[in-house]
Amino acid sequence: MDNLIYLDSHAHAFSDDFDEDRMEMIQRAKDKGVILLNIMCTSTEEAYRAMEYAETDPAHIRVSCGIFPTDVNDLTPEKKQEFIRVMKDPRCTCVGEIGLDYYWEKDEAMRAKQRELFIEQIHLANELQKPICVHSRDAMQDTFDIMKEHRCHGLMHSFSGSAEMGREFVKLGYYLSLGGPVTFKNARHAREVVSSMDVNYLLSETDSPYMAPEPVRGTRNEPSNIPYIVARMAECRNMEVTELAPVIVNNWQRFLEMR
Ligand SMILES: [Zn+2]
Repeated sequence: MDNLIYLDSHAHAFSDDFDEDRMEMIQRAKDKGVILLNIMCTSTEEAYRAMEYAETDPAHIRVSCGIFPTDVNDLTPEKKQEFIRVMKDPRCTCVGEIGLDYYWEKDEAMRAKQRELFIEQIHLANELQKPICVHSRDAMQDTFDIMKEHRCHGLMHSFSGSAEMGREFVKLGYYLSLGGPVTFKNARHAREVVSSMDVNYLLSETDSPYMAPEPVRGTRNEPSNIPYIVARMAECRNMEVTELAPVIVNNWQRFLEMR
């Protein structure tokens, strides 16, 4: 049990929230076996710092950068070019998080702009032969329709759709990453997804610093909390953690090889 290796496919490890103790936080994760880390960057400044760090351990640490859906509102052409430069950088593994957020955006014209930017970034990812990490909030059907029409290789981060919807994404070859909500008492959906989906498309994430799982819910989340999440996932599937953790690690390797 002590020797298990874990994946955190979505951690904002270079956000300001960790400025005080970033290296200690990463060490705490390593001590728990959470050595596979995908660092999500929502700004280019963050991405350059993360990419520099990732060079110290490229086998385990990955960096993702993309234009977050609601950032379309004040996106200048210069800013967009800066993002594209980072996405093209060989040290940037995935394009993301990109997608649609209708929770924070109620205006239909701006939602249309989000869809346009999402499609544009999917095309760029395809050109670069990189996978995408997708953020979808209150916009599952539109997200699905776009990813069905504009096929690519990618994962749904913090998947919040129904089990049925989850299976539809998996049918198209997309992976589903789940986090803290699987441990929440009221999150029946997330557990149904975990228990009924093809286990070979399942990934684990924290979404640090957000979404801390039980029993540390409400605190600043960090990658060292992954074991709580994977333990709960294993329980949902009537599996041992010792069985499930290696499957998730294997899924991540396959995801990176774009298979
Ligand atoms: Zn995120």
